[in-house]
Amino acid sequence: MSSIPPRSPQLATITPPITPKQSNGGKSSTAKIIDDSDIVPADANIPDNYVSYTLKHQKSLPPVSWDNWYNELNWLHVAILGLTPLLGITGAFFTRLRWETAVWSVVYYYMTGLGITAGYHRLWAHRSYNASKPLQYILAFLGAGAVEGSIKWWARGHRAHHRYTDTDLDPYNAHRGLLWSHIGWMIIKPRRKPGVADVSDLTKNEVVRWQHRHYLQILLIMGFVLPTVVAGLGWGDWQGGYVYAGLLRLCFVHHSTFCVNSLAHWLGETPFDDKHSPRDHLVTALVTIGEGYHNFHHQFPMDYRNAIKWYQYDPTKWFIWVCQQVGLASHLKMFPDNEVRKGQLTMQLKRLRETQETLSWPSDNSDLPVVSWDSFLTQAQSRPLICIAGFIHDVQDFLDEHPGGRHLLTKNIGKDATTAFFGGVYDHSNAAHNLLAMKRVGVLHGGSPHGLEDKSIPPSQRLRIARYNELGGSGYSSAAMSDGEGLLG
Ligand SMILES: [Zn+2]
Ligand SMILES: [Zn+2]
Repeated sequence: MSSIPPRSPQLATITPPITPKQSNGGKSSTAKIIDDSDIVPADANIPDNYVSYTLKHQKSLPPVSWDNWYNELNWLHVAILGLTPLLGITGAFFTRLRWETAVWSVVYYYMTGLGITAGYHRLWAHRSYNASKPLQYILAFLGAGAVEGSIKWWARGHRAHHRYTDTDLDPYNAHRGLLWSHIGWMIIKPRRKPGVADVSDLTKNEVVRWQHRHYLQILLIMGFVLPTVVAGLGWGDWQGGYVYAGLLRLCFVHHSTFCVNSLAHWLGETPFDDKHSPRDHLVTALVTIGEGYHNFHHQFPMDYRNAIKWYQYDPTKWFIWVCQQVGLASHLKMFPDNEVRKGQLTMQLKRLRETQETLSWPSDNSDLPVVSWDSFLTQAQSRPLICIAGFIHDVQDFLDEHPGGRHLLTKNIGKDATTAFFGGVYDHSNAAHNLLAMKRVGVLHGGSPHGLEDKSIPPSQRLRIARYNELGGSGYSSAAMSDGEGLLG
């Protein structure tokens, strides 16, 4: 079971990058639906050097400038993203907002937003839970009402975003700026193809296929007809339904979900990992229906939650949980809590380590000269040396600072004051012990066993954060060290 498969010789050779299959790549994938058996994962033969090779060898379009910009715009996207707010704001000037329509617009904003966050994103792009057929159809309808492309196109781009985060193979690479990741990547023609990402599971999904095939009709019905008809038949506000629940609601849904690519990679903290740009922030969560805990999400993308605490604002997570309670969803995935907390701890240690590195620390055994007892006695005649816990300390600059008085120090010059220091005369504070360690000038020959006693380690260093290669010897755990030759070897 645990035998290692022989290494395939072709793995070692450098292969050219695969070209993402057209049916899976690019937004123009008006998918010719292939037989299930034909569907090979788009990245089945991905070479080991795919990212670096592709970035180096695949041509990208020239930068956008004042001379070429009108050729480089995606005019369809410009029209959708420009006309929606333009018509909506103009319409609002001529349309009284009725309270019923206002409530309906907000409700429909959440409904279509959840179509994206719970459907497009967490269900289809990440498979973070299983949804029953009825729920899949509901989410496919609602998601289309957010007018952000078909599930298949959206999920394919999003999977590339996760796999190639912060590189030019990420379609909304946050390193290209806030404006680019928010909207620029849609209104300007992509400078290069998004990196290969497999969506063969979605190609096999009948709901995804059906939505892709009838996308335009579903979009028109869910984006504009339904919000208008509900307000029209419901309380006779046809025009308000169209302007507020249709156009302006759509504009809010757009920019709300776009914030996941922009704001969530720009604002906030990195409590789980700081390798890439995703961040956690409550404000982002508030404007994105709960997608604002994006640092967590990029670390644990298969988790159905974005915010791990039940009370943290993540309506998408609550929605999925409720769907499970009523039998519409199942198999909600959660990353093991132990591993989640390990990620958090790592970042906490990293920050503590940064603090630790801004402080000065005492010299340890390896940097100090080893001095015999006789030599210590001789040298103590010309300078104020005191031996405590196996270390020899020069207390010259502390004689007048000693809270207990100069005399208690001078009477111990040339002596071992370990017992007196650790409670025989006065049980010194942690601060005193830390300060004492800074005055080390030597190690007493044969005095080192003291150094292994917990008490004799300066308190600030007992839990010192050490990198794995600083613990010496055999491994990365301190336990491994005391088991083996580390003790007195
Ligand atoms: Zn992201
Ligand atoms: Zn995601």
